[in-house]
Amino acid sequence: MKVLVVNAGSSSLKYQLIDMETEAVLAKGGVERIGLPASLLKAKGNGKEKVFEKDMPNHKIAIELVLSALQDSDVGVIKSMDEINAVGHRMVASGEYFNKTTVVTEEVLKILEEKTYELAPLHNPPAVTGVRACMEVMPNTPMALVFDTSFHATMPEKAYLYGINYEDYKAYGVRKYGFHGTSHKFVSQEAAKYLGKKPEELKIVTCHLGNGSSISAVDGGKCVDTTMGFTPLAGILMGTRSGDIDASAVEFLAKKKGMTHAEIINYLNKKCGVAGISGVSSDFRDLEKGMAENNERCILALDMFSYQTKKFVGAYAAAMGGLDCIVFTAGIGENTPYVRQEVCNGLEFLGVKIDLEKNKLRPGGSILDLTAPGAKTKVLIVPTNEELVIARETAEVL
Ligand code: AMP
Repeated sequence: MKVLVVNAGSSSLKYQLIDMETEAVLAKGGVERIGLPASLLKAKGNGKEKVFEKDMPNHKIAIELVLSALQDSDVGVIKSMDEINAVGHRMVASGEYFNKTTVVTEEVLKILEEKTYELAPLHNPPAVTGVRACMEVMPNTPMALVFDTSFHATMPEKAYLYGINYEDYKAYGVRKYGFHGTSHKFVSQEAAKYLGKKPEELKIVTCHLGNGSSISAVDGGKCVDTTMGFTPLAGILMGTRSGDIDASAVEFLAKKKGMTHAEIINYLNKKCGVAGISGVSSDFRDLEKGMAENNERCILALDMFSYQTKKFVGAYAAAMGGLDCIVFTAGIGENTPYVRQEVCNGLEFLGVKIDLEKNKLRPGGSILDLTAPGAKTKVLIVPTNEELVIARETAEVL
């Protein structure tokens, strides 16, 4: 069975074609600048890479080009579109309408359009546009939606509710939903496999630290709490997002800066986080360079990020009543030794001690065990693979 995984944004569309027998990625690529001048597709397959420059005014034309690239004489890996048995689409927000991977039907798309757009205005509308474009071009291919939020559907009410009026939660669905669910699920399951245990036997804190970052408590294979909230703005500070902030400070800042509601939310999403603190960059490679040059604000940004992550590790150990394993994943979790070291430093009381030499290594696609000899709590780097989860779930549901 071959599954095409599609992740559609407003002007971009990333894809992978995965062979489910071997779980090998047969082809992958991405379309950039859909609806803009100079749109192009970068496609990889057969060990080669090719750029297709074509005017792509909409997602339908983009999908058509992806399908033709998959059959291209250089980078193509299939002879006909019929070889694609299913399509799995990434969907960011489900609201309370879907709690698991769902087969695409017209009714499902209507619910998404009518009920979830205001929950994820930047992500869900282009993703649904991507689904509809695929349906037009591949009308006979079954499709599924894999939600970023599904893995968090097991959180108990006491974890996902905000301290607002219960009636308002019921009326408007204002609560914590969580994001990056496919990644938290994948890395917690891979960690269990590596440790030779069943997920049910483990209490794991998964730290997905990338441009967007979230931390989850995974108790017995189920998510019981996570740091992102109603939107992906909540939790620890991130590349450009502020993370948690007192709601009254938001209003105060908006007044001082003469910003509307929309402008201050945009500011908190795009102009804050480690970029705002350092004044240098949202990219941790630049922050590490700044730290090497003794740039105090780069060091402060790195320390704030590590400190906030550490606090949630401790909080989630308390929430679960124990801790067997910490998992680091995503761009920063996999590549920034300083952050991992600072997160683990001082957690000896939880049985955490890492091998500082191993911590300098990069995982290179497989799990790296950082646990120091004799330490009770395992610390692992587990490279994430959200596309593979989407493909697996799509194959399972279809
Ligand atoms: P992600 O959102 O998971 O792609 O992570 C993106 C962030 O990870 C980047 O902004 C960098 O700060 C960081 N990152 C990615 N690759 C590296 C690397 N090789 N070394 C250090 N940091 C990296």
